[in-house]
Amino acid sequence: MTRLSKTPQTLVIQGVTIAPGEVKRIDIQLGQLYTQTPMTMPIQVHRGYQDGPILLVSAAIHGDELNGVEIVRRLLKHRQLKHLKGTLIAVPIVNVHGFINQSRYLPDGRDLNRSFPGSERGSLAGRLAYLFIQDILALATHAIDLHTGARHRTNLAQVRVDLAQDQVLELAKAFGAPVILNSNLRDGSLREAAVKLGVPTILYEAGEALRFDEVAIRAGVQGILRVMRQLGMVRSRTVKQSKSQLEPVIARGSSWVRAPQGGIFRSLVRLGQKIEANQTLIGDVADPLGEQPIAIYAPVSGVVIGLLQLPLVHEGEALCHIASFSETDQAVADIEQFTEQMNALISDQG
Ligand SMILES: [Zn+2]
Repeated sequence: MTRLSKTPQTLVIQGVTIAPGEVKRIDIQLGQLYTQTPMTMPIQVHRGYQDGPILLVSAAIHGDELNGVEIVRRLLKHRQLKHLKGTLIAVPIVNVHGFINQSRYLPDGRDLNRSFPGSERGSLAGRLAYLFIQDILALATHAIDLHTGARHRTNLAQVRVDLAQDQVLELAKAFGAPVILNSNLRDGSLREAAVKLGVPTILYEAGEALRFDEVAIRAGVQGILRVMRQLGMVRSRTVKQSKSQLEPVIARGSSWVRAPQGGIFRSLVRLGQKIEANQTLIGDVADPLGEQPIAIYAPVSGVVIGLLQLPLVHEGEALCHIASFSETDQAVADIEQFTEQMNALISDQG
């Protein structure tokens, strides 16, 4: 079901009116830096002539997660938007302060994605969260929030949803990432705030902080267009209807394998690899002379969906993220098919 009730005749964001058929850039005012330089959050709004859903696509709520920024830039140039029905609100960088500092956090050390809904008189993070909800999220009928793994951690393309919420499974399936992970709402997250506003929201995670990952970016652009097709915002016949579009497999849950001691971690697995509990060797952690390495086996079966890229670890550090499926072989086959398709696309198009 598409909710159209929020579609107003006049769409106004921070005093700027966007009429049907218009594309507008709006620089949301965020106060100033201590140099007195004005801070703004650039957004672009595409409004079709015909009414329809209002889709918010946001990225870099964690300021160092860059794949989503590139996904939004490519989406905004996509020819499909010429025939848009409804409205696309694209926010490539929500945490502008963090982006400038190449940091996940705001300058006050807070995680914006734990600061929603925020308040008008709250902390820096709380005020930004509040403004984002009031001025942007509250207008949307649906939302897609783009993330990557944290610094030095890479993620297999995956969509995270709270399956207890209405409509999100439908959106997640339409997105077509190879894995759907059921993930509970975290306190203070954008997804939690969106649920309270009745805005079905999915989260796309792929790649690593501070890096562009071509597969993650292309899969992200395709995924958003597929969701837009599902919502009737772009024409079905012209969005690439991949004949081999995946029926993504839903993970029952996931767990992290952690370092048993501090030292140098040697990883022996890759993203998408099948793991057998207590049998597959994840890697080892040893001291600089290589004496007394500790071999690490996964306690659970499943598929690797996240991996530490930095070999230097403290005891307890998360090394490898494993998703568990009822049908692990199907999940592995889907992931392989996805990887082949994406690699073929990249080598075809250069
Ligand atoms: Zn993130």
